[in-house]
Amino acid sequence: MKRYFIHTFGCQMNVNDSLRMSEVLGRMSYSPTHNADEADLIILNTCAIREKAEDKMLSALGRYRMVKTQRGALLGVGGCVAQQEKDKLLKKVPYLDFVFGPDAIAKLPEIIERVEQDRARVVETVWVDSEEYVFPRADPETSRGKVTEFVTVMKGCDNVCSFCVVPHTRGREVSRPFPDVLQEVAELAKVGIREVTLIGQNVNSYQGGLSFAQLLLRTAEVPGIARVRFTTSHPHDLSDELIEAFRVQPKIAPHFHLPVQCGSDPILKKMRRDYTVEQYLERLAKLRAARPGIAVTTDIIVGFPGESDEDFEKTMTLTEQVRYENQFSFIFSPRPKTAAGIHEKSWGPVPHEVKIARLERLQKLQRQISGELMAEQLGREVEVLVEGASKFDPNKRFGRTAENRTVNFEGDAPAGAFVTVKVERTSPNALSGKQVAVLELPQVMPPPDARPQMPLSIAEA
Ligand code: SAM
Ligand code: SF4
Repeated sequence: MKRYFIHTFGCQMNVNDSLRMSEVLGRMSYSPTHNADEADLIILNTCAIREKAEDKMLSALGRYRMVKTQRGALLGVGGCVAQQEKDKLLKKVPYLDFVFGPDAIAKLPEIIERVEQDRARVVETVWVDSEEYVFPRADPETSRGKVTEFVTVMKGCDNVCSFCVVPHTRGREVSRPFPDVLQEVAELAKVGIREVTLIGQNVNSYQGGLSFAQLLLRTAEVPGIARVRFTTSHPHDLSDELIEAFRVQPKIAPHFHLPVQCGSDPILKKMRRDYTVEQYLERLAKLRAARPGIAVTTDIIVGFPGESDEDFEKTMTLTEQVRYENQFSFIFSPRPKTAAGIHEKSWGPVPHEVKIARLERLQKLQRQISGELMAEQLGREVEVLVEGASKFDPNKRFGRTAENRTVNFEGDAPAGAFVTVKVERTSPNALSGKQVAVLELPQVMPPPDARPQMPLSIAEA
């Protein structure tokens, strides 16, 4: 049997795409390996969001070249860099066999056959932009033994944020019809999934026959599903209807990832984010009133062209004011075809060392806030959905609270159970403690243990 190795870069959309790739390869009688040196087929699923991600992909390709020379392994690049570079990538990397975009995953058998039989170098980066696009359905059997799963509800993005390459690599928004989404959720629930995360670049502009709020409410009603999450959202789509869904349906997990990007209005305008800080805060206040205790996380870009010290201080102030549970912060990276990438020089590039200094200050502040918020949990009993053994200590269990806080604890509950854990220690990124009670056992018993092995190899941000 031939073996494959997938190296995944980037966001959850890519991790999900890699899972779909492994399903397609499984049907071609390939089996996964965690060691690239043993692989007959190596695929890099790439991210183009920042330049660094592209550089990492190129250096990884250099490493896998050896496997190609020694074993004759096939080497392919998928994902956003593939979509962006197309045949240019074959020219840049002469030992690469094939390049395929995010919409060509279902065509992998055809692509691999052409490479093997015709000795051709293949580029397959056509976009399926319209409603004719058929979303790859997850095979529920590959989720058996897992507790949480991602379900794609839309692809692409119709926004034009001036820093972002996604509209160029993932195309226009296409929503998946809601009956399809609900059927996939129901099939996942039958094999034991308790928590689903609905994913898309911009989920709350979903238009698959229901509003996004209605889709969440319907998903929460699927028998067996205990928690529903989603990612990612644009603040301008945080509607009153969505806020109301948080108020009325407790199964919608109290965690909202709401990327603000910056705390200064002139920069937000240049970013083409179409909200002001005041509007963002007003939406957030409404959300917090509807669901007290909701954990809020965000994305921030520092060093956007033209960002002054004063603009940056406003991001610091906003961070203190909102008290985010966590932040994913990045330094601005100019991307091809984006307005900010093209006009960086005339808009006023921020020197690299200034960007780094700002990022360090922001991350330090966020670590302090995360630490304080987690410390508030000390001594409390929190409800945890058990996902399996702890990564750090196989004698401990691992799970997450509804707010998405990770918890490692002493206990014996099987994956899929709900338990209460008494919190004895906290850090900015995790809670730890002891199991106090089992609230609910899983409806589908998982295999004796384990966080199921993903057939993927490495996931990197
Ligand atoms: N759709 C989401 C939204 O609108 O907020 C964001 C999706 S994007 C894949 C994830 C994050 O990457 C963004 O929120 C932004 O903070 C960051 N990002 C995007 N382009 C970037 C760039 N050129 N430089 C640095 N960070 C960037
Ligand atoms: Fe990129 Fe903006 Fe679309 Fe998010 S909303 S994916 S940041 S263009």
